[in-house]
Amino acid sequence: MISASNFKEYINTYIDTRGFTTEDTTFTRAIIQGIALGGGLFVPRVLPKLSLEEIVALGDLRYSKQAAHIFRRFGVDLPDDIIDSLMTQAYGENFDAPAIAPIAAVTEDTFVLELWHGPTSAFKDLALQCLPVFFSAAIDKQRGADHSWSPAKESISTADTGASPYDSDYLILVATSGDTGKAALEGFKDRNHTNIIVFYPNGGVSDIQLRQMTTQLGNNVAVFGVDGNFDDCQTAVKAAFNDKDFNDMLLEKYNLRLSSANSINWGRLLPQIIYYVSAYAQMVKRGDVAAGSEIDVCVPTGNFGNILGAYYAAEIGVPLGRLLCASNENRVLADFINTGVYDISERAFVLTPSPSMDILVSSNLERQLFELTGRNAEAIRGWMDDLKTTGRFQVDKDTFAKLRQNYSADWVSNADCLQTIREVYEAHNYLIDPHTAVAWKVAERLRSTNPVLVVSTAHWAKFGTDVYRALNGIKPGEPIEESFTQAGVTGLIEHIKATYNAGSIPAPLAELNNMEVRFKDSCGYDVEDIKAAVVSWLDK
Ligand SMILES: *Cc1c(COP(=O)(O)O)cnc(C)c1O
Repeated sequence: MISASNFKEYINTYIDTRGFTTEDTTFTRAIIQGIALGGGLFVPRVLPKLSLEEIVALGDLRYSKQAAHIFRRFGVDLPDDIIDSLMTQAYGENFDAPAIAPIAAVTEDTFVLELWHGPTSAFKDLALQCLPVFFSAAIDKQRGADHSWSPAKESISTADTGASPYDSDYLILVATSGDTGKAALEGFKDRNHTNIIVFYPNGGVSDIQLRQMTTQLGNNVAVFGVDGNFDDCQTAVKAAFNDKDFNDMLLEKYNLRLSSANSINWGRLLPQIIYYVSAYAQMVKRGDVAAGSEIDVCVPTGNFGNILGAYYAAEIGVPLGRLLCASNENRVLADFINTGVYDISERAFVLTPSPSMDILVSSNLERQLFELTGRNAEAIRGWMDDLKTTGRFQVDKDTFAKLRQNYSADWVSNADCLQTIREVYEAHNYLIDPHTAVAWKVAERLRSTNPVLVVSTAHWAKFGTDVYRALNGIKPGEPIEESFTQAGVTGLIEHIKATYNAGSIPAPLAELNNMEVRFKDSCGYDVEDIKAAVVSWLDK
C-alpha cells in the first residue's frame, strides 16, 4: 500500500555540478533559476531509494498518482495536495492514452515505450506538460501569494538590484529546430506568471512542425521565423539572454525576467525519471517481466536528457540492466561511450531523418559525469573547460570504467534508419518514426538476454516524409512525389495511414490543415532583430 504517510516527509535540496553554488537551493527555486551560477547544473543532494515492493505497487495507480509519489520521494518543496493537483493537470486528458506512457509488446521480448501520446506527439510533452505547472506554482510559492504554506522569502542571485527574483513574471525565450518549440508553447500556453516566445529558422523545420507552431493557441504566446539557420537563431537568442541592458529594460518596463526552461532544467529531468519507474511497474503488472528481473532500455539520444532519466531511475531502485545509447550519424555520444573521449573539435554537423537528435554538445552529459565521478565538481569544471577551449575532453580510467558498467552505445546511418522503419513495419505491422528506428536498430545489435524496452520518442506522423521514403524505398534526402506537397501538410500522412493501415493519426496533427495560422512574422538573425521582435510583441 502506498501513501505519502508511509514516508517521513522531507525537503530535498539541490547542489550544482560545478560546485560554484555555496548554499543549497530547493526544487522550486532550482526550476525557476534553471541553471546554477557559474554554469553548473542542479542535481538533488539526496537520491531517494525505492523498494521493489514500492515500485511494483505503483502499477496499481494511474500515471498522475505515480508521478506525484515520485515527486514526493524526491523531496520536492511543495505540499502533497498541491503536487497531486499539479500532476492531475500535467497528466490527464491532454494525453490521448489513459496510461499516458503505454507500452506496446511488439515481440515476446521487445517492448516499445510510447512517449508520444501528448499534445504535440513527441516525448518532450512528458516533461513540458509538467514543468510549466510547477514553474508557475513555484513563483506563487516564492511570492507567498495566498498560500499559508509559503516559507519566508529569501532571495537568490539578486546582487544587482536587491529585488526578489519572484516579484516579476517570466518571459520564456526558446530557439528551436522543431520539437522543443511546439512542446514548450503547448506547456506554457495560458500559464500564470509566464509568457513564451519561440524563434525557429525559416526553412529549417518540417511543414508539420511549422504548422504546429504557427497555429498555436494561447494569449501569452508568440512565434517568429528567423531568416537564418538554427545556429544563427540560437546564437541570437543566447545573446539576448546575456544582454544586461535588455534584461534591465524588460524588468523595468514590463516587469519581466527571462528564462529558457531548456532541457538542462531539473524540472524537465525529474518527469523523465517517472516514466521508467512507471514502465517497469506496468510490465510487472502485465506479466511481461518478473518482479526484480532486469530489463534493458534503449534510448534515441541527443541531449542525453531522456537516457539520463533511465540512469536515475536505476539509481533509485528500478531493476534496469544495460542502458543502450542510440545515436544517429551525429554520433559524438556513441563515440564517447565507446572511447571515453568526447571530441567535437573536427566533427561536422550532419542532417539526418531524426533531427531532434542532431546535436553536438549534449548538455545533460555533465550530470552523468558528475554522478559517475562520485560528484567531483572539480573534475567536471576541468572537462567543461577543456571542451570549451579545445573542443574535446577525455575522462579518467575509473570514470570510463563506470560509464561502461552502465552503458553500451552504437549509431545508425541515415540509410539504415529508413531501412529499419520498413523492416519493423513488414515484420510486425507496427509503424515507427525515424528517432525510434535508430533506437530499434541499436537495440537489435546490442541487446543482452534481458527483455528490452525501446523508447519511442515521436509518433510516425510527425516525420511522415521520411516514413514515406522508408516505406517506398526512397533514399534519405531524395524528393518525393510533388502531389503530396500540394495536398496540405496532412495529405501525405493521410495517404500513409490509408495505404498502410497505420492506426489513427493524433487529433492535433490530423486537424492541422484546418487551423488558423496566427503567427506570420519573421525577423533577422541579429540579436537586435530578436530584441526588436520581443518588444514588438510585448507592445501589442
Ligand atoms: C528531443 C528528442 C530526442 C532526444 O532526446 P534527448 O533527451 O535530447 O536525448 C529524441 N527524439 C525526439 C523525437 C525528440 O524530440
